[in-house]
Amino acid sequence: MNVIILGAPGAGKGTHCALIREKYNLEHVSTGDMLRAEVAEGSPLGMQAKGYMEAGKLVPDDLIIDMIMKKFSHSTGKGLLLDGFPRTVAQAKALDEKVKVDIVIDLAVSDATVIQRITGRRMCPNCNAIYNTRYLNGSDTCSACGGKLVQRADDTEETVKKRLESYYAYTEPLIAYYKAQGLLHTVDSETGVEQGFADIQTLLEPIA
Ligand code: AMP
Repeated sequence: MNVIILGAPGAGKGTHCALIREKYNLEHVSTGDMLRAEVAEGSPLGMQAKGYMEAGKLVPDDLIIDMIMKKFSHSTGKGLLLDGFPRTVAQAKALDEKVKVDIVIDLAVSDATVIQRITGRRMCPNCNAIYNTRYLNGSDTCSACGGKLVQRADDTEETVKKRLESYYAYTEPLIAYYKAQGLLHTVDSETGVEQGFADIQTLLEPIA
């Protein structure tokens, strides 16, 4: 099955995708992780994308579509778990030409929750595990791989407000786009990881 996880920044896409990938053996494709790897490498794409990312803006569609199509051409053949892609209607249309999407799950959260979660978010640069300072008790070590946790350059309050603006302008319209295709399901992502993942499994079990 091919699954899209939609949601504002901080809605829990990364956290839930790690759980979904594990349980359903899907190929997790996160355009954010791919872009951060390009930036860290200093590749031409990374150099083009960096400024947009740090400003809380979307990276232009042509760069993203090119990157994702290259990724699909080296696909493992497993079902896809798309995290952070598509983020615009143009990207969704490009995807429709390539992949049959089976289900779209929108993780719903309030703006206040987004800001609280994002400013406390820490991630492991080695294995991409995600944490929140609320539960770290002052630790800065990844419990999965021992890496030193970092705050993403775009996880400041100022940038997150810009990212929310981009979300409402360009990504939220995808809710109507996928609703019209009969693919959209909404999961309340305010309830905590355990309940949210239980709700996601209820949606995925019948098609897994
Ligand atoms: P994420 O890790 O998904 O929050 O993505 C981090 C940043 O990467 C976003 O704020 C955008 O600047 C950029 N980005 C990731 N995925 C996309 C996409 N599908 N389209 C445009 N920009 C993206």
